[in-house]
Amino acid sequence: MSNPHKAAVIGWPLTHTLSPVIHSHWMATHGVDGVYEKMPVAPDDLGSAINKMKMEGYVGFNITVPHKEMIIPHLDIVAPLARLMGAVNTVKIDENGVITGFNTDGIGLVANLQKSVASWPKDKPALVLGAGGAARAAALGLLNEDLPFVMISNRTREKAETVAAEVGRGRMVVIDWNSRHEAAASSGLIVNTTVLGMHGNPALDVDLSRAGKDTVVYDIVYQPLITPLLNEAAERGLRTVTGLGMLVYQAAAAFKIWFDIMPEYDDVLKERLEAVFR
Ligand code: NAP
Repeated sequence: MSNPHKAAVIGWPLTHTLSPVIHSHWMATHGVDGVYEKMPVAPDDLGSAINKMKMEGYVGFNITVPHKEMIIPHLDIVAPLARLMGAVNTVKIDENGVITGFNTDGIGLVANLQKSVASWPKDKPALVLGAGGAARAAALGLLNEDLPFVMISNRTREKAETVAAEVGRGRMVVIDWNSRHEAAASSGLIVNTTVLGMHGNPALDVDLSRAGKDTVVYDIVYQPLITPLLNEAAERGLRTVTGLGMLVYQAAAAFKIWFDIMPEYDDVLKERLEAVFR
């Protein structure tokens, strides 16, 4: 009889994470005999934690704040997308102990968009607000779509310039933070990847009054699930996408990497996750 599969999420501090709910559900649904653990790992203990998981035969693990970048020197292989993002959110440990890092955030971001709205105006550019790790994921995901170009606007303009230069493939335009309102008016898709709107932060101030009626507003912040930005967009009759699906679909891509099974965001999982926010 083979040993149960072990996987985990590591981070510090690791107070609230939905990953165990998601992966445990899929393990049960797909008959994967295993456990998915929540493993708080302090930055100084990162190397020893990875070694321990390797020795104990873990199939892999997810990585959250603050380890997404600092894990890279500990890996044997970094997949091209993760290399481009400079961050890893999923690690696979193969049967020979080879450790490979992936980043599934961009896949999750676009999959959620595609599953949530049938279409969005692709004859107009998309606007990404923010220039952190999640903005890179958004940029990389959206650059694969058939859009004229992708605009990026960030409070610290230099960071947006760096993202455009490093991942933009000549198809990203940097917009000054003060000009985000005009940019929103000409976008078919507005994606918030800043921390604004998250619990404990002010709301994102972006003028939606001139946005086209077919514009989609996507907020990847999921705490709260319905951010002030999404509230306002809905009141204006615009279609909205919450950040919860991104979390689920980036997890689905990780599950596929570990178990070669692409799981579904089924109604039972939806109900379990939504219950957390009620
Ligand atoms: P990050 O790398 O720390 O980036 C934070 C971004 O927020 C930066 O662009 C920063 O601008 C901006 N920002 C912070 N305070 C601001 C303010 N007062 N005014 C204007 N801009 C401000 O964070 P991240 O990893 O990209 O994550 C960003 C958000 O996405 C978080 O809320 C996170 O929970 C969410 N997220 C969701 C998912 C999901 O699965 N749904 C996945 C990943 C992340 P500056 O550069 O000017 O500081």
